[in-house]
Formats: sequence, structure tokens, C-alpha cells
Amino acid sequence: MASNARWILVSNRMPFNYNPETEELTTSSGGLVTAISGIKAKTTVIWIGCVTDEASLKRIEKLPRTKGATIYRPILVPHYQYDAYYNGIGNDVLWPLLHYEAEMLRFSRVNWEEYVRVNRIFAEKIIAEAKDDDLIWIHDFHLFLVPGFVKEKRPKLKVGFFLHIPFPSSEIYRHLPVREEILRSLICADLIGFHDHAYLRHFCSAVYNVLGISSSLLTIEHDNHITQLGVFPVSVDVQNFMELARDAETTRRMKKLYLTSRTQKLILGVDRLDYIKGIELKLRSFRCFLRTHPEQVGKVRLLQIAVPSRTDVPEYRRLKEEIERLIGEINGEFSTPAYTPVQYMYNSVDKHDLMALYRGADAIFVSSKRDGMNLVCIEYVCAQNLRDPGVVLLSEFAGAASMLGHVLPINPWDEYKTAEAINVAITMPLEERKRRHAPMLEFLTNYTSAHWAQTFMDNLAIHKESRFAASRTKFLGEKKVMDELKKKLKGKSKILFIDYDGTLTPIVQRPEDAILSKKTLELMKKISRLRDVNTIIVSGRNGKFLRDVLGDDNFSMGAEHGAKFFDVKKKKWQNMVNMEKRRWFDEAKRIMKDYAKRTPDSLVETKDFAVAWHYRNSPRIFSKFQARKLMGELESGLSNFPVSVIHGKKVIEVRAMEANKGIFINWYKNNMLHEKEGILIAIGDDKTDEDMFHMVNRNNGISIKVGEEDTEAQYRLSNQADVFDLLQDVILENW
Ligand code: UDP
Repeated sequence: MASNARWILVSNRMPFNYNPETEELTTSSGGLVTAISGIKAKTTVIWIGCVTDEASLKRIEKLPRTKGATIYRPILVPHYQYDAYYNGIGNDVLWPLLHYEAEMLRFSRVNWEEYVRVNRIFAEKIIAEAKDDDLIWIHDFHLFLVPGFVKEKRPKLKVGFFLHIPFPSSEIYRHLPVREEILRSLICADLIGFHDHAYLRHFCSAVYNVLGISSSLLTIEHDNHITQLGVFPVSVDVQNFMELARDAETTRRMKKLYLTSRTQKLILGVDRLDYIKGIELKLRSFRCFLRTHPEQVGKVRLLQIAVPSRTDVPEYRRLKEEIERLIGEINGEFSTPAYTPVQYMYNSVDKHDLMALYRGADAIFVSSKRDGMNLVCIEYVCAQNLRDPGVVLLSEFAGAASMLGHVLPINPWDEYKTAEAINVAITMPLEERKRRHAPMLEFLTNYTSAHWAQTFMDNLAIHKESRFAASRTKFLGEKKVMDELKKKLKGKSKILFIDYDGTLTPIVQRPEDAILSKKTLELMKKISRLRDVNTIIVSGRNGKFLRDVLGDDNFSMGAEHGAKFFDVKKKKWQNMVNMEKRRWFDEAKRIMKDYAKRTPDSLVETKDFAVAWHYRNSPRIFSKFQARKLMGELESGLSNFPVSVIHGKKVIEVRAMEANKGIFINWYKNNMLHEKEGILIAIGDDKTDEDMFHMVNRNNGISIKVGEEDTEAQYRLSNQADVFDLLQDVILENW
């Protein structure tokens, strides 16, 4: 692990606000800043972010360099460009869409071009700044294209990306006019982190639906690159919040805010005034609570802090009006001279007031419609008095709901049930409050933002560049590996077992279109005429198909995975499997026909010793779902029969146990070669070829996998197009 590697953190903005009048820099607020500021790296940290004016740039550049402190590297992005990139795409497109508000999406190509340019500026800054073993950590949706741009120029740099907001269902994501560009860039990263498993799952379906690239939920493999995926819920600097909440200044503020001697219960809301926070839903539920629990009127109040956000945008102004109207209505309905049910602040508060409020409130109320994580509820838990902790009312649509197990979960759209939860919160006995609070605090003390960052960076540091680098399989694209193979085979007798689909021909949409090219057929014929080479085509196809495309003068053939053998010398087919053993056949066919009826454009192929369900042309998601179900049904339904159930490339096949390419090779070796010497060679691309590789490896032969999946083979070609050159250079011309 590169433990001394420097960390280069990259986010849209830096954690400062600059006041041109006083020339002062103050710390800015927001979840991302809180999270990144809590990072305690054991190494040098460089933070890259942009500013929009020269004065801020200069002021940040002049910050004193104290030993061990973060080094800030600001980038200047002109105002007009920043506006198009940040507001035009970040706020008007990506923010609403990724929070499920597709109706609010306003896409403009002009803005997108600026987004691309600004992302390039960030990438160039990283490229200029980074040493080869630095770890680059790019944050959030403003910088979606940066991983792609960086990797284009510096493919070996380790690049991580973290998404601080939700990744929505692929059904929502696919509205995005630039859906491909973004995913193509993200999968160039070495590690992508999310707050929640659901976001990761949605991301994988989007990659599959939009780009057609499948993943294992742990990794995405494409173009000889592995993108690792992970869930790393963000946290805060827990110790710092705990200390801040207990310090003398916070206690003084609690007194000042009359939080120590209050007679009414206090429910607290702290949100940016943003439509994702569901403040209006919170108010409706609170009104419902007062209506359904008249006994609590006068005894419980809600303090809502709404931090101004995007005040220049009409939707936000309308939302503010709606919130203020609702507050007016509730206060009009329930206020008395001694009681105001909703207290409202349209402003931010400083850290000590915030801590005092967290500590003084009986409950925190988070009603987000969607929220990547929500740090407010985490901070609230840290700030509580252990002897008298408050309760967390938390929307199940916030990422934090997967992390905090002892909250009162709410669906903010269900105002009646939420109103009941409010009542439970404010009447909860002390013992239960303590019982809920303690494990959450314990979890958080072990799971701080420093831990979050360290775990992410450790994962990034150990990331392997590609499967080819990771596995023992040697890549024949490298000259020295190819030379080694040629040397091993030079001048030796060879017994070549070669697969058909995906190896001699490319995989095509319709199986019947997989016809061997003239050029390859000619090459194979030449090879079969070599004195020291035995050539056997081994395929899952039936005998008739193989004979039609390959003729019966040229090669021996193992059809149906070796269940039938064609001896080119005797010009005769022979069954390798006893026909009587086919009792399973009709049952397998019946189940598959049933699935074929229910899955558009799928079909059942029957062979003598196998029956297969093909779904290459069927709707992708649905057929994948059906395939999983069918596998389960066949595996359990046929468990007492001597069959193998194999899930190949867009095909599920049930075949006689003996119809196995490995068993076939073994039989061939013992019965057809007699005492003849020779190296066994197997070349194939699919799962069924792994049986060949296994057998060939056991006999000190040579196994060659075509494609990128996991394999037992010793060598690998990256794709089918390379097979021709291999056969020509290594078999035909390698004397
Ligand atoms: N915050 C603040 N001052 C305020 C209100 C909130 O500094 O007046 C901070 C709060 O402590 C938290 C962050 O803003 O760290 C809000 O993060 P959260 O994830 O809850 O929401 P976001 O605003 O990032 O969507």
C-alpha cells in the first residue's frame, strides 16, 4: 500500500468564503465541507478547488503554510463560466435529477459545453500537480468528467471518485441527455464510493442499461480496466463535535437562548432551504400532530432553521414563500399570547449556537425527500447529553437512515404516521432514549470522517490496475509473453482443441449468423493439413450445424460440448453419451419453453444431449431477471438427474453430465492419440471452455482464454479478433 502517497482532494469549491471588504476568509458551511474538513490524514494533503475572482485566489494562495496543514491550490474559473457549469448544469440539471426531481431538469448544450471545459480545467490542474504515486480523490457531481480526463492523460494515476448525493434509479437517470458521457468518465476511475448500497445498485443498473456493461456490484470491468465500487457512508469529526457541544461557550449560549430553563418541548429542524429537504412536508406533519394531539398544543414547539440557498432561483423563492405561508397558517391556528408553535429563522447560525440548539432540543426532525446522507442528524447524536439524550426523527429517504439504526424512521410523505412519530419522540421515556442513543454514538465514535477518508484511500491505494495485472493469466498482448508461448510450441506436435462461437467467429445477435469467415476457414484448413497438428473443433453447437459450416473433409469435431464426436478419418459421428440416460430432457425442455413464451424474442434450442434457452435478443433487464429465475428453477428441479445446468453468454443450457468439453478432451487423449506425443492446446471464450482449460492444464498443455472474464487459462487474448493472428503466428508459421 502506498502509505506515504500524498492525497490530492478535489472539490468544486474550497472551504472558504472571502469577504472583499474585510479581506477575510471565513470557513464555509455545508455537508461536503464538514466531511472533508474532518479528514485527518497522516500524509500531505493538497486540496484543489475553484474560486471565481482574483482577490480570493490571491488571498488563498497567501495562506501561511504551517507544517502538516492542508495545502490549498485554488483554480480561477471566470464568473460567466462558473455560472454555466455550476448553476446551469450542477444545480439546474444534476442536482434535481439525482434527487429524483426529473421535472425540474433544465438542460442547455451551451451550459454543458462550459461544464466540460471547467472539468477539463480541473483535470489539467490535477495532471500538473500530481506525482505518479499520489492518490487523487475527486468529490461530487460537479466534477463527473474529471476522472475520464485525468485517466486519458495519466492512465496510471490512482483516481477515486466519491458521490456525496444519491444516485437515483436508472429509470430516472436515463432522462439525462448526457447520460453516457458521465458514466463513461466515471468508470475510468479506479474506485467509486457511495453513501449507500442502494445508490451503488442504481449506479450499476445505469451502467448496464445505458452502456451495456455489466458489473458484480463490487467491480465493473471494461476495456482491460477494473473499476472498484464501494459503500463508504460519510461521517463527521465526531470528537470535535462532542467537545464543542460540551464546552463552556456552548453552555453559555444554551443559557442565553433559554434552552436550560424551558417549559416547552423543543423539536429542531436544521436544513438548507432546498426542495430536497422536505421542509414543507415537515410543517404539514407538525400541523397534523397539533391537530391530532390537542393535549400537546402549548407544550411542544418546532424551531426551523432554514439556511438560505440559491436565493436567485425562482423555484427556491417559491419554496420559501410556501414554507412561510404554511408557518403563518400553523401559527395563526395554534398560537396563544404565551405560545408560538413554529419558530422560524431564515439564516445560518454559528457553530456554538448550533451546538447549543442540538444539545437543548428534545428531538431533531429531518424530513428530506431525498438526501445523500444528512449530517445534521449525525451531529445531533454527537452533541447529546448522555444522561438525557434527545430523539432522532429521520426520513427513510436520507442516506443516514442506513447508518443510524436506532432513530424513529419516517416517511415524510405520510403526514399522519409522521405526526404519530413526533408524539412518540416527545413522550419517549428517558430509559428508551438512552437505549437508542448509546449504540448510535458508539457506532459514530468508531466511524468518524477521518475513518471514512482513510478507508476510502486505503481501498484506492490497493486497487489493481486491471485483471490482467491481478491474475496469474498472462496477457498475450505483451510481446515477451507471446515470444514465450511461441518458444514453448516451436517444433512440437500439437493437438489443438478450439471452440467455435466467440473464438473462431465473433459473437453475433442471431446464433445462425455466426458463419466462419472464408479467411479463417482457409487458415484452419491449412493448419489441419500440417503433419504435426491434430485439429478438433469443440463446440456447444449440434453436429449438423458444425458440418454445414465446416464441411466434413477437414476437421474432427466434438459437437454438443463433446457429447457427439465426428472422426474426420472415418467420416462418422459417434455418441459419447448413452441416449437412455435422457430422462431429464423433456422436463428441462418444458420449463424452458414456458420461459420462452414469457420472455419476448427468446427461444429454445434442442440438441441430442442438451436443451438450451437463448435470450440474446430479448429485453436486457427483463431477460436477465428471467434468466436468474430459470437458473434457480432448473437447478432445483433437475438436481436428481445427471445433468449440468450452465449459464453461458445469454444462454442457459441443460446438458448431460458427460457432455463436457473437459471429459471429451480426456477421452480423446486416451482413445485417439494412443501413445502419440504432443502438447494439448485449448482455445475458447466461454464458461464451458473452462472445462477444457482445466483438463489441458492437468496434462501440462497450453490453455488460452479469449476475453476478459475470470479464467483458469494460462494465457489470455483480449478479444476474438486476435485469434486469427494467434493461429497464424503461433500454430501455422511457428516451426
Ligand atoms: N450548518 C452550519 N450552519 C448552519 C446550519 C448548518 O454550519 O446554520 C452545517 C451543519 O452543521 C452540517 C451542514 O451544514 O454540517 C449541513 O449538512 P447536511 O449534510 O445536513 O446537508 P447539506 O446542506 O449538505 O445538504
